Amino acid sequence: MLGLMQDYPLLVQTILDHAALNHGNREMVTRSIEGPIRRRNYRDLRIRALRVAKALQKEGIALGDRIATMAWNTDRHVEVWYGVMGLGAISHTVNPRLFVEQLVYIMNHAEDKILFVDLTFVPLVEAIAAKIPSIKKYIILTDETHMPETSLPNAHAYETWLAASDADFDWSSFDENTAAGLCYTSGTTGKPKGVLYSHRSNVLHSLMCNQPDVLGVDSRDNVLPIVPMFHANAWAITFAIPAAGASLIMPGAGMDGKSIYDLLESEKVTASAAVPTVWLGLLQHLADNDLKLPYLRRVLIGGAACPRMMIETLENKYDCEVIHGWGMTEMSPIGTTGKLNYATQHLQGKDKINLKLKQGRTPYLVEMKIVDDEHNDLPRDGKTSGHLLVRGPAVSSGYYKHDEKVLDENGWFNTGDIANIDELGYMQITDRDKDVIKSGGEWISSIEIENTALGCDGVAEAAVIGVAHPKWTERPLLIIVRKPDSEVNREDILAYLDGKIAKWWLPEAVEFIDEIPHTATGKIQKMKLREKFDGYKF
Ligand code: ADP
Repeated sequence: MLGLMQDYPLLVQTILDHAALNHGNREMVTRSIEGPIRRRNYRDLRIRALRVAKALQKEGIALGDRIATMAWNTDRHVEVWYGVMGLGAISHTVNPRLFVEQLVYIMNHAEDKILFVDLTFVPLVEAIAAKIPSIKKYIILTDETHMPETSLPNAHAYETWLAASDADFDWSSFDENTAAGLCYTSGTTGKPKGVLYSHRSNVLHSLMCNQPDVLGVDSRDNVLPIVPMFHANAWAITFAIPAAGASLIMPGAGMDGKSIYDLLESEKVTASAAVPTVWLGLLQHLADNDLKLPYLRRVLIGGAACPRMMIETLENKYDCEVIHGWGMTEMSPIGTTGKLNYATQHLQGKDKINLKLKQGRTPYLVEMKIVDDEHNDLPRDGKTSGHLLVRGPAVSSGYYKHDEKVLDENGWFNTGDIANIDELGYMQITDRDKDVIKSGGEWISSIEIENTALGCDGVAEAAVIGVAHPKWTERPLLIIVRKPDSEVNREDILAYLDGKIAKWWLPEAVEFIDEIPHTATGKIQKMKLREKFDGYKF
């Protein structure tokens, strides 16, 4: 017998409807690409998103068409993405930090029809436009006054294009499983793969993000998503925050410490989210200028392991709660968050920081487990490491136009991460499965050595790779980038690590380089480092 409740499809445009109706005066503040701060509210934003949908329909765009954006976090980007999705088309957020060949590959693969592009990226797009024939129109996210000279064919100023349509439009209605967004993984191995979100997965994921143990904001918060919309939906924030009725503060292209600090202050931001590198920039700016963070209450840090020093400084010096998060594009992307719970809330000092270094617990609607190489379940004892598998309504079941089977027979998705899970459900990533170091039949966590080494004075960045060893199969090689003016050496670093990690984990050698290569989403490119140190002899 079926229940007698309404069959109400979970469509993302209902988020904007809710925000406009119930939190209509809540502001959306943008550091515009042109320079000045721009203010709108959710009511205006919805009207503009409806106009986008109507204008796209006039262009002949229909259900299932892919519309690309190459843009920073701004109000215009948000209204385009709701307009596209509310029409039933698919919003393809292109990461401009991908390599040029990857950009060409993904836009051809997606067969995008229109590209909305920020002023910043016009030169980049001009250089590749001839290689992406599916794009018939370029809409530059600016007004006529700031329209650049461009070689792009059929290029239009966004505000002029938008002005030709009114908001007399009803959102399309369709099945909640309809595709809403497309985001390609950065493709550290092989070609980038398209993760295709649905309306249903996005709505459920937004509700997940708004659980108190995840980001947990409410309608009094002012939230600054520094993580870009092209990086896995800005970690759900551009859906979850309007749903919560909180104010959205958009940083535009200003990712440096000063620009971020200025917005945190002027807009009294209470919550924010970004990868560790961005926080490093902010912390430096605060220290250099002897500044405080009076309004910021919590920050979500993820995408890469959050260093100990960052948690300590933000929590102890700036009284700002760090929520360490883990996830991946294929998970929409939130997988776990590390807030304290009933059993850990009394932890103090080092014990608290140690717990916060773990990637955290799953919210409702994410399941996870660890298994061994033979796929046997492993215990949640906080010690045993295994392959981390996940499932849930916001986890991928496949890739766009790709035959590869990604789920096992019970619907579990292999994250490619190696982790342990403790009795309370706190998960700790110890490695990527391709980065784990196999020494004498045991696994060494490259991430833990890296994090520990980062605490040593003079170390700016650390990476550990496994190098072939005649007796132990592999041993860790620690690669260091020194801070400017630092002369920290091998002995200093090894002495620092001694006693902080297991003796047999101590790196076999330490090498110093000027720069560590990163992927488009800010992760260390271990593959590049392995190539660089190929054939290394201890
Ligand atoms: P994201 O949008 O989170 O960067 P990606 O799909 O680009 O997603 O990368 C996901 C991978 O990033 C994870 O599988 C994991 O290896 C790594 N990662 C993400 N967050 C963390 C974290 N807090 N600690 C360690 N690794 C992380």
